Formats: sequence, structure tokens, C-alpha cells
Amino acid sequence: MNILILGAGQLARMMSLEGAPLNLNVRAFDVSSQKIIHPLTYQVFEQSLEQAISTVDVITSEFEHIPDDVLALCCQSGKFHPGKAAIKTGGDRSIEKDLLDRTDVPSAPYQLITQKQHLLDAVSVLDLPLVIKTCQAGYDGKGQWRLKSLDQVESIWAEMAGFIASGTESFPHTIIAEKMIPFDREVSLIGVRDKKGNVKTYPITENQHTNGILTLSLAVKVDDNIQQQAINAFNKLAVSMDYVGVLAIEFFEVSGTLMVNEIAPRVHNSGHWTQQGTACSQFENHLRAVTGLPLGDTRAQKPSVMINVLGQSTIPTQVLAIDDVKSHWYGKTQRTGRKMGHINVSAEDNIALGHKLLLLSEILPEQDYPGVRAMSERLLQG
Ligand code: ATP
Ligand code: MG
Repeated sequence: MNILILGAGQLARMMSLEGAPLNLNVRAFDVSSQKIIHPLTYQVFEQSLEQAISTVDVITSEFEHIPDDVLALCCQSGKFHPGKAAIKTGGDRSIEKDLLDRTDVPSAPYQLITQKQHLLDAVSVLDLPLVIKTCQAGYDGKGQWRLKSLDQVESIWAEMAGFIASGTESFPHTIIAEKMIPFDREVSLIGVRDKKGNVKTYPITENQHTNGILTLSLAVKVDDNIQQQAINAFNKLAVSMDYVGVLAIEFFEVSGTLMVNEIAPRVHNSGHWTQQGTACSQFENHLRAVTGLPLGDTRAQKPSVMINVLGQSTIPTQVLAIDDVKSHWYGKTQRTGRKMGHINVSAEDNIALGHKLLLLSEILPEQDYPGVRAMSERLLQG
């Protein structure tokens, strides 16, 4: 079967790698060059987007900021999953908030902003501090402001006004102000839903961010109640969008209760550990769902940690001398802070995982791989 993925980054690459054993051939549409390419070799196929759409069996995507004309073409073909509603929701925080409100899934209190008065309203109704985000742009914590004191209002508004003014009537730019949630930790749930409505979910993952970018994800057994809250949110959101494929939901955990931060209608960085911590990874399960194959086992086989490789083009080779430690490179040109690859670590139990992280923390410098030592100590304390 032939699959076209919108987007040609590392997520398409990893889907391509997992598609091969299933006899699924993956091509990718590189939105910036407008070319159809092979997501591993970057070989360019002499094919237009329209030709690719008509020849493949299934179309899916690895990101949510898909140009409207491309999305329309793909949807018209009847081959596109997870569907237009899901992509629109994941690509615009105001639509996402609307869905969360309609489905009664808790999330941070918010105020949409298209003029200065709305910002002043947000300050008085939601109270400081606020996290202010662009609705239609931004990833890895970009396109965000933190409003902590009233004397920042003018300067932050000046920057926000520039973004709002660059919108058009058909593509308005809006901003959202959210109450800053004093979370205990951030977790995410990766789940998959097939065309018949069957759902499987992975164990939730604890995520650590440094300067707004994911640095480390921990997948160990968590409290059943927290897992169930996450599954309930998944079911409500996936059913309401008639979702097909992998859907990721990021949460804040506050005193034992989950609030949604955001959703991603695709495979997700916090699910990369599933490549070795489970029998069927998020990449394989996404492909299974969109092609109509049975969903695979999502149970954790081993406690695992995923460490992002940010801005580094190599890792010390001793890393790979540790059992059950694997690297996954994305084939990208090096840039400071760029997601270049990741390292997956698994072990028989949490203590053994702590020991492996301790070994890794002696090899990987803290400034490039923040949190590895601290996570090791936490696991070793039991
Ligand atoms: P990514 O692409 O990494 O998912 P993003 O740019 O889409 O990030 P968010 O996930 O909304 O943006 O925010 C990035 C991080 O900022 C969150 O993971 C969280 O640490 C922090 N954050 C966002 N919103 C809030 C909030 N309302 N209260 C507290 N912290 C927040
Ligand atoms: Mg996020």
C-alpha cells in the first residue's frame, strides 16, 4: 500500500521506517519545497501533489500547520486521515479551546485577544501571571510571552499587535491569554483510534521541558486514576472529531487532577519511547489506524526514558555500549537547539532504569542533556 504524508520531517521519517515491515511505502510532501520526496533518502519524485494524491491509497500528516489549499485537495480525495476538523483544531488554539469547552474537558482558563482591551480584560479577569500564545503559530514554546507584572503590558502588547496585524481577513491572527497553571508536572497521553472507533492508549508519559522545548520523557507506571483521567479526555476528544490515527494530548497535573494544555493530531515527541518500550510503537499504530489494519499492543513492556538530542550532530559512542540504549537520528543539518535525534533507554524496572540514566549522565554533559542526572536520582530513590 502507498501512503503520502504531509510534511517531510523526522515524524514522517520514523513512520516510513516502521511502515516498511508492514509493506507500506511512504512518500512525503515537503511543504516548503512543494516536492514529493522519500522521507529517508530525500530522493525527489517527479510527481506533482495532485498526481501523488491520486496514486496513493492513504494520505496522512505529520504536522498541523498545513496550508488550506493542500488540506482541501487531500480531503477532497477522501483518503485523508485524521480529517480536516482534527487538523484545524490542532493548528489553532482558539478552535482547540472551543472543542475542549464543548466536550467539557478541563483546561486552563483563557481569554482570546484581538485588541488591546482584551489583554487588559485578561489581566483583570484571569489575574497575573499569564501565558500568552499565538493561536495559529508557534511550536517548541516559540510564539509565547509570559506576562508577570503590569509594567510589561505595553511592551508585550506592541509585539502582539504586530502578529495580529499580519493576519488577513481570510486568515486572521489571534492570540490567547491563559492563566499560568502552577502544575506539579506535565504529562501526555498518546492514543490511537481506528476507523471502526476502536481505541488503544499508551501509558502516560511525564515530560520535562527546558526553555520551552521537550528535553526528556519518562514512561513508568503511574497512578491508575491519573491514567483514567487522561483516557477519559482522549475518548471525548477523539470521538467528537471522529478521529482516525494517533492523537497526542498534553496535560498539566495539578494536585492529582489533569487539565489539558494542548492536543496534537499526530504522532508526538513524547511518544518516541514507544519505539522500544512497547511491542507496537506510535508510528506503527498510526499507520495501522489510517490504513485500516488492526491496532497493535500499546502496553508498556519496560519502563523507559526518551532523551532529546538538541543541536548536537553526534553523541559519544559509549552511550550505545549500555544495554537497551538506542539512538534515533533524523538526518537533519545541525542548528543550535534543533531536534537532531533522540535516545531511548529501557530497563527491567525503575531502579535499573535509574542506574542506566546515571551511567548516561556521566557521558552526556548536563548543559546539553538537562535533567538526566536528576531523573536518575529520582528513580534510584524509588
Ligand atoms: P510544543 O511544541 O513543545 O508542544 P508549544 O509551542 O505548542 O510547545 P505549549 O505546549 O502550549 O506550546 O507550551 C509550551 C510549554 O509552556 C508547556 O509545555 C508548559 O511548560 C508551558 N506552558 C504553556 N501554557 C502554560 C500555562 N497555561 N501555564 C503554565 N505553563 C504553561
Ligand atoms: Mg506543547
